[in-house]
Amino acid sequence: MAIERTFSIIKPDATRRNITGKITDKLEAAGLRVIASKRIHMTRDQAEGFYAVHKERPFFNDLVTFMISGPVVVQVLEGENAISQNREVMGATNPADAAPGTIRAEFAESIEANSVHGSDGPDTAKTEIAFFFSDGEIVG
Ligand code: ADP
Ligand code: MG
Repeated sequence: MAIERTFSIIKPDATRRNITGKITDKLEAAGLRVIASKRIHMTRDQAEGFYAVHKERPFFNDLVTFMISGPVVVQVLEGENAISQNREVMGATNPADAAPGTIRAEFAESIEANSVHGSDGPDTAKTEIAFFFSDGEIVG
């Protein structure tokens, strides 16, 4: 099994409800190690850039508005198969479909306000980590 790095965001619905610790606890319990973390309030430009891949989707504008509605916690996670392991503990995009015990099943408010983001593959993980962190901010 390979040690990987992935990128995570604890979204504004979760910072608003003060459950960043509860979510981080789930990540750590799943074997993921937080090797970089910072709380930021994204600008519209940043959020649009980060989600550029979804530009043509009907929910794009609402998603960007939601992501800048409050602070977020951006993190780099490290562990065995971190990318798929994180997707697993996050649960399905729509909390109605998320498996019991997953972050989204327990904490998400809606398909949009679904508490966490996680990279979906090695290429996006690399790009997304570099979007928010310099090498010196990541301490593995
Ligand atoms: P995931 O976050 O599970 O990788 P996507 O990459 O498909 O999901 O979508 C990115 C984010 O856009 C989702 O986490 C969610 O916040 C939002 N989103 C996805 N689908 C919808 C939808 N049908 N309506 C509203 N928001 C959505
Ligand atoms: Mg995605």
